[in-house]
Amino acid sequence: MKIAILALQGAFAEHEQMLKHLGTDTTFIRNLTDWTHFISSSLEGMRGVLFPGGESTAMMRIMKDEGLFNPICEAILGDMPVLGTCAGLILLDRDHLDVMDILAKRNAYGRQLGSFCTEEEFKGIGRVPMTFIRAPYIEEAGPEVEILAHVDGKAVAARQRNMLVTAFHPELTDDTRIHELFLKMVKAEA
Ligand code: GLN
Repeated sequence: MKIAILALQGAFAEHEQMLKHLGTDTTFIRNLTDWTHFISSSLEGMRGVLFPGGESTAMMRIMKDEGLFNPICEAILGDMPVLGTCAGLILLDRDHLDVMDILAKRNAYGRQLGSFCTEEEFKGIGRVPMTFIRAPYIEEAGPEVEILAHVDGKAVAARQRNMLVTAFHPELTDDTRIHELFLKMVKAEA
């Protein structure tokens, strides 16, 4: 199994560490050559893609400049499992890649509460620690989307088929269960 981590900008190294810790092979995607190599060196049904946190506007621009936008959209629409965290959640929404039927509210917690940690129930997993950094929440979700967690009444995690998103940063705690759920999706066990 191999996970491609979008490494254009942002918090990609921490995801790599967590996936390595779970014994998973990873590769960084910085340009179209990396992506083409990933597709040719991995098997369908044995691979997934991860969108980290960072700055969604910058990531969107670089994806377009590097010619990654269309091939990655096609792969996700073709059922490649994807985990999007924070800015990665924003990238998948209706206003960006438009592959997931959600609308993200960016920088949703205001300046005072820009960054905070909490612990809440995550459907199917239990209570998980959640680190928010200038995070979004999900303000609209279509009928195919299952909301998996709330903080203060706002949706902060969701799944739609092969797409799993969290507004928080699971890679910044030592709780590996969100990544494990994603790896189960890659193995089609979840
Ligand atoms: N505020 C960032 C954005 O809008 C997301 C922050 C994050 O990924 N930690 O892209």
